[in-house]
Parts: sequence; structure tokens; C-alpha cells
Amino acid sequence: MEKILILDGVDKTAIDVLKNDFETDVRNTISEEELKSIIKNYSALIVRSQTKITKEIIDLSNLKIIGRAGVGVDNIDVEASTRKGIIVVNSPDGNTIAAAEHTLALLMSVARHIPNANQSLKNNEWKRKEYTGVELYNKTIGIIGLGRIGSHVAKVCKALGMKLIGYDPFVNKAKAEEMSIEICELDKIYAESDFITIHVPLTNETKNLINIDTMKKMKKSARIINCSRGGIINENDLAYAIENNIIAGAGIDVFEKEPLKDSPLQKVYEKLIITPHLGASTQEAQINVAIDVATQIKSFLKGEGVKNAVNYTSMEAKKELKPYISLSAKIGSFLGQLGDSNIKSIEVEYMGKLTEENTKSITLSIIKNILSQILGDTVNYVNALLVAKDRGIQIKETNSSIESDYKSEILVKAIFEKNERLISATVFHDDQEKIVQIDDYKIVFEPKGKFLLTINMDKPGMVGKIGNGLGENNINIANMSLGRNNKNAMMIINIDETIPENILKELKNMEGILDIKYVNL
Ligand code: NAD
Repeated sequence: MEKILILDGVDKTAIDVLKNDFETDVRNTISEEELKSIIKNYSALIVRSQTKITKEIIDLSNLKIIGRAGVGVDNIDVEASTRKGIIVVNSPDGNTIAAAEHTLALLMSVARHIPNANQSLKNNEWKRKEYTGVELYNKTIGIIGLGRIGSHVAKVCKALGMKLIGYDPFVNKAKAEEMSIEICELDKIYAESDFITIHVPLTNETKNLINIDTMKKMKKSARIINCSRGGIINENDLAYAIENNIIAGAGIDVFEKEPLKDSPLQKVYEKLIITPHLGASTQEAQINVAIDVATQIKSFLKGEGVKNAVNYTSMEAKKELKPYISLSAKIGSFLGQLGDSNIKSIEVEYMGKLTEENTKSITLSIIKNILSQILGDTVNYVNALLVAKDRGIQIKETNSSIESDYKSEILVKAIFEKNERLISATVFHDDQEKIVQIDDYKIVFEPKGKFLLTINMDKPGMVGKIGNGLGENNINIANMSLGRNNKNAMMIINIDETIPENILKELKNMEGILDIKYVNL
């Protein structure tokens, strides 16, 4: 009988799902050393977020599947799992109600000072004036991110008599209208909301979305709720904004670094309601996610499908296609990071030898990786096409009769609301991935690591200027590639470190720089 190891206090309902077909071992806490010594005995593993499933553990194992009872898979080395052909599944739906209700609990607490008043009374005080609150009725709530959780929050806020405005670049407008949400730009959300609640994934675009500049656009009486992911609100800026009465307060469940320690937020605790990442912590959610992953594991080990695969093993793909599957993930991730607005369609064109192959898995990998940049962990290889369809994103796949300069070439065009971006790429000698064109710039480089993509005036001195700008900020250039079209020039500058937002802004403002993007592959 195959054996399944269940860690991290995953709800025991998982055992009920599995016990008739498999042997289950439950260990609520386990040391890394012990896990390494026993992992080889198991076909499947279920974890929450506590135990780190490292490459070393994965390599020592004979696992076929790892289940994360919850959403985020930060504690699992998914790349190492994929390389070993281990499928990783999660449960993005099981937490929705729990996280939405926790958001509402924070909203009420922030409006009526419940936790502070409770503590004060327990300290034998009877302060009524100090804890005068504000009502939610007739107030405007700005909802950023209208997916599963944002939509449920909207439904309840409407019942409370609030006015709903929302922002989500992928929103289904008809659905939003049905829920009485006025869709608008972020600036309107900032300017008009009495309460702002955030329900987006943490991506390059949403990192530091709420910072001092955006908070200065808000009402002085605005209160922010974040029950999504740490890092979306800049904590230094939030502390500053509350301390200086730029906004009135906040309710926060998730933090840049968890567990929360030595945080700048400490100095404004009086005006903050904070909880230790409790969004998904309800009995019902823990049961939902446990049943969900256990069911997927059972189904997979019995040779059937899973519904929420985080990774995708290219095991079934032909050997010759494997390098293109890896390349396509990078093209997708790159294009996802280049977009500035709502994506409308994705067009994939195959040239050369690839036109003779079944390229479905390559196209899927491109789509999944574009969407992951925008939607985060919840998109996977199983649901990517469905997610694209639900959001009205057109997918077009064609074989070109135009001859390529290379044995095979993949050309992908992502059409956003405000612009179009194109990437063309190939594989040299079966293992050297190369981008060969971006937009109408012919430029050849390896898509790897961190780099800046600049479009600049095609005139002398630009390379030196940007090099100096980076040097002055102590950022080392590892490599550089150049290209030009008939008007401007493009640079790809490989760098060793992540580039801070303020330095990127500084470079953007340099004379002659027309556009600059930071990309991390
Ligand atoms: P979802 O995928 O259903 O919805 C996310 C929405 O955000 C999507 O509609 C997407 O289009 C939108 N979005 C993406 N980028 C955006 C941007 N730049 N601006 C505005 N909208 C953008 O996800 P969900 O299940 O609703 O989860 C929302 C968040 O809550 C996620 O970050 C998730 O990890 C987090 N979460 C936290 C807890 C907790 O314990 N606090 C529990 C569950 C989920």
C-alpha cells in the first residue's frame, strides 16, 4: 500500500479521505533531519506553510505528488519538484470565505476600535468618547482586486449599504456591474474611498502598490485593510502616513516579514489593528483545504487528474520539445512583466521545425506564465486556459509559412489595452535559450536572471550615461546587449541585484531614456 505523510497539523479530515486506499502517517512537527531520513518511504506528502520542503528533501524522496493545504507554495521548492517529475497541487478556493470574513472583521474593528476598546475596558478603564467610531453605511469602499475574495467582500459591503468602487485590470465588467461595483482607475479609488481593501496577489506590479505617494492621494480619514499579501503595502510608508495623519488608520493581517518583529509599524500600533496572518484560519477553511488536497492526491495516485496543479511536468512532451517548454515559460514570464495594462490577447506563432510538432504544451506554458505574473499563484497549467477564457483573453496559435533565420522560432505577441509587446526566441544547439527580438528591435541575449530593458534615443553616450547611473547607485552590470530599430535603440543590461523602485525612477527620468523596465526571470 502506498504511504502518505501528513505534516504541519493539516486537518484530520484529510485522513478520512485517504485511509481506505493508502497508509497515512501524521506528524505535526518534524525536524529537517528526521524528515530527510524518512521521506524516501512516501509516495505523497501533505503540508501547510510551516515545513520547508527543500531541494535536498525532494531529491532524497520517492514522492509522486506534494499537496499544499492552502494557496501559497513559498515553502516548497517547486522547481526542484518539477525537475524530479513531482506534481505539486494546492487549494486556492478553500480559503475564500475565511479570508473575506476576516477582511470584514478588520473593517468593523478599524471603524469601531473594537480591539482597543476591549483592551481598555479590561484594564478597568471606561473610555467612551475616545472610542467613538465611524459608520460603514453610505461610505465608499474601494476594492482593489475583484477575484474570489474581493468579490465576496463586495457582496457583504453592498448589504451593509456601502458604495462600491473597484479596480482590477482583469475584471469581468458585466459581473462587476451585476454586483453594483463601479469600475474605475486607481487614482479615483485613492481619492474617493473612505475605506480601501486590497485583494490582489503579490506580483512585481502590486509590490509596494500602497506607498507614501499613493497614500497622499487618499482622504485624511481613509482607512486601509490588507488581508492579501505582505509587501503590497510599504510598511515604512504606512507607519509614516499614520503617524503624520496622512491617513486615519489600517487593519493589517499580512506583513512584509512574517512573523512580525521589529516592525516600523510598532510606533503607530494605537491606530492599527493587526492580526498574525489569520485570514485563512477558520475551522471550516482548514477542513476545506485538507479535503481538497487529499482528494486531489487520491485521484492522482489512482491515475486520474488533479484540478489545481501548481507545476507542470513536461514529462509527456517529446524530448526535442523540452528545451522549448523551458524557453516558453521565460517568454511568458517576460511578457507578463512588460505589460502596463489589461491584457486583451496573446498570439503565438511557430516557425521552422516547430510547425511540424504538436506545440499545445508550449502555448500553454506561455499563457500560464504570462498570467502568473498578473494573477500570482492561483494560475496553474491546469486552469490557465480557463482563466484566460473567463477573463475574455483571446488566444491565437498559428504556424507561419515565413522562413525563420533559425531552425525553430517562437514569436509571441501580447496585446494589452494600451500597447503591444512582442518577443521572439529560439534555442541554439538544443540547450542555449536566446531571445532574438523584442518589439521591432533585433537583439540577441539569454533570458536569465535580473535585467533592465531600456528603450533610448539612438545617440552617442547613452550606454555610458546609464552605466554611470547604475554605478553611482552601486549596481553592478554583469552583461549588456544592444539592438536598434530605425528610430531608437534598446539595451538589455544584466544586473546582479534587484533594483529599488527609486533608482528605477531616477534612471527613467534621465534625458534620452524613453522607457525602462526591470525584469526578473
Ligand atoms: P484571485 O486570483 O481570485 O483574485 C485576485 C484578483 O486580483 C484577480 O481578479 C486579478 O485580476 C486581480 N489583480 C491582479 N493584479 C492586479 C493589480 N495589479 N491591480 C488590481 N487587481 C489585480 O485571488 P483571491 O483568492 O481573491 O486572493 C486574493 C489575495 O488574498 C491573494 O493575494 C491571496 O494570496 C490572499 N489570501 C490571503 C489569505 C490570508 O490568510 N490573509 C487567505 C487567502 C488568500
